[in-house]
Amino acid sequence: MTWQHTNRSRHARGYGHRWVKLRERILARDSYLCQTCAKAGRLTPATAVDHIVPKAQGGTDDPGNLAAICDPCHRAKTSAEAARAQGRTPRRRVEFGPDGWPIW
Ligand SMILES: [Zn+2]
Repeated sequence: MTWQHTNRSRHARGYGHRWVKLRERILARDSYLCQTCAKAGRLTPATAVDHIVPKAQGGTDDPGNLAAICDPCHRAKTSAEAARAQGRTPRRRVEFGPDGWPIW
């Protein structure tokens, strides 16, 4: 019997192996819980890793700029960012917690 490597497809285009590893690290650091929900006292499993400062606004892949996030929060954040980019203010007032995180 010979060892065979499974074919690894790059399903996440634009993000390579480095991002996959980093993403895993951030999820583990944040206990696989959405950090935005956690600030609001909710425990929601995270499904993604978000850039706190969007890359479009100069955010980096530094772990300090990354947080585990759930789908609804990610969508809300993305649409708020899009609204801001268009010069509109988000419908909900954004407040910042003591550690500088936005509370949605
Ligand atoms: Zn959430």
